[in-house]
Amino acid sequence: MKPETKGAKTPMDAKPILSVNNLAVSFDTYQGEVQAVRGVSWHLGKGETIAIVGESGCGKTVSIQTVLRTNPKGVGRVKSGEILFDGENLLEKTAKEMRAYQGNRMSIIFQDPFTYLNPTMTVGDQIIENYRQHRKATRKEAEHRVLEIMQLINMPSPEKNMRRYPHQLSGGMRQRIMIAIAIICDPEILFADEPTTALDVTIQAQVIDLMNELKAKLNTAIVLITHDMGVVANMADRIYIMYAGKIVEHGSSDDIFKRSAHPYTKGLLGSVPRVDRKTDEDLYSIRGAPPDLIAPPPGCAFAARCRYAMNICVRTEPESLHLGDSGHFSACWLNHPAFTRDARGERGMEVHHG
Ligand code: SF4
Repeated sequence: MKPETKGAKTPMDAKPILSVNNLAVSFDTYQGEVQAVRGVSWHLGKGETIAIVGESGCGKTVSIQTVLRTNPKGVGRVKSGEILFDGENLLEKTAKEMRAYQGNRMSIIFQDPFTYLNPTMTVGDQIIENYRQHRKATRKEAEHRVLEIMQLINMPSPEKNMRRYPHQLSGGMRQRIMIAIAIICDPEILFADEPTTALDVTIQAQVIDLMNELKAKLNTAIVLITHDMGVVANMADRIYIMYAGKIVEHGSSDDIFKRSAHPYTKGLLGSVPRVDRKTDEDLYSIRGAPPDLIAPPPGCAFAARCRYAMNICVRTEPESLHLGDSGHFSACWLNHPAFTRDARGERGMEVHHG
């Protein structure tokens, strides 16, 4: 059975609530400048779910930390770009002005609740404290709001569980608490950074269902950061595939799952186990490692790992090309009209790898 995708609005049919345009972020290290994000653009519509997908180190988390301004202090230098939220450039906001956005209009669910939750406080107190940091509310008003949220996230025995400490709850319940903290101030955008990675498969499915349910109830836009195409298939309207600090393919869920055009995307999809595959041999893994971003290669950054790489790939970087009229883009020479399979043969475009 192929992964069922959500289908979706494509291209994005609403004015974006968040637009990241040509964002470049570098880290200065003793070895040199690490170009973690290299001119990335993506857009999020109101009430929409997008996924930014790639291996670790591809720049997806750095992009989100830059939007939320949660990069560790002094780390990460924005070299170019703009981040427009409701028409205002967040990169021009002071740290104080950003507090009106962080945890209020935008919030985040992290991968591992244990590293975020305070082990010495009950989870109820932690949600209350978070709420009162952002809203002027009495303790009683905050408690009332917390109970409302506990019901919204389908927390069993909410009053009893509010009085428990994180270690007294299961992994799934702790992740529900993280979701409660993230949504208690009614954010317009919810970022979810690998929200199910630390959970077992059954609990993963429950958390995905909960996030989809909340999105339907609250109309919150979601930016999902993950390497897991299974999670993406169940949540995303549109998908951005990121590799070596750049977006290499983007389109609707259907474009990516049914008509993927970039070899890296195909590799990500091929590495997901599926019940319709007959043997383990069908499971494809992308060999090698991403390039060193201190000295990114001049051509396609994926060339050293790509089974279809040609001479031009190592010399010249492919542009992102619009495929059809659906808002599906891919940055690969294979998709260029001048590089059909026949043309490659006629022009002697050698393939590097078999
Ligand atoms: Fe592979 Fe070349 Fe396409 Fe890069 S541009 S993904 S190396 S075929």
